[in-house]
Amino acid sequence: MLQRKFDNVVKGFFPNAKDAKDTSIHYLGKMQIEHKLDISKVLMATSVCSDDINVPSTTFFNVLFGPFIMGGLGGLPFAGQTGMTAFAHHIPDEGSAFIFYGPHIGVTLDGDLGKMYRPRQEETGNSCGALMLALNRIQDAGYAPVMNDDDYQQMKLEESLLPYRDEILASDNQAKAITEATYEIINKKIHEHLKSCKDEFHVDRVTLLGGIIINTDYGLDDYFDARNFEVVDMKSL
Ligand SMILES: [Zn+2]
Repeated sequence: MLQRKFDNVVKGFFPNAKDAKDTSIHYLGKMQIEHKLDISKVLMATSVCSDDINVPSTTFFNVLFGPFIMGGLGGLPFAGQTGMTAFAHHIPDEGSAFIFYGPHIGVTLDGDLGKMYRPRQEETGNSCGALMLALNRIQDAGYAPVMNDDDYQQMKLEESLLPYRDEILASDNQAKAITEATYEIINKKIHEHLKSCKDEFHVDRVTLLGGIIINTDYGLDDYFDARNFEVVDMKSL
């Protein structure tokens, strides 16, 4: 019942979003049927935010091996080229690879985007916390992140978002806009790392699934708004 109510709220913001089960069935089916991939030999990597609330989302695909965790705050692939290389070296013989990536955003039944009720908390909290913090900071026109060793990921995330600052602030839904911008950043980085590390892959095909994870209340399914599904022919990179 509650899940159905969430369905309407989520689809109001993300009309193409699918719930967890539909997402896994749909994309695993595409891999197996349309692309003839043997899903018993697929190693998954994720580039999603460190937030504990995303752990269930990565189990959408728990029939696969892994995951190799590439993501840090906001979902950026902080493991970088070394992470992509290590992932490439861990793929089963005659198998293939799958990379699931994207930012996340919470929503409440009241339609409050960027917020969610977390397990055993009375009040709503931010989701994604890192992105909502970045948003709060870049709303101050004089703000510039200062790179430092002790808060590296957050500073790097904010630095990556600066080119999108005007676009985000001009949006009538800034929480959604910063999430969309972060998707663009992650998508670009995943493609760059895949290309620069292509010689490390001993398989022909790597499947990418990128989009936005939408967190609902604890215990209910998350949703996923897919933005990119592609089976990359590694020889063509
Ligand atoms: Zn987060």
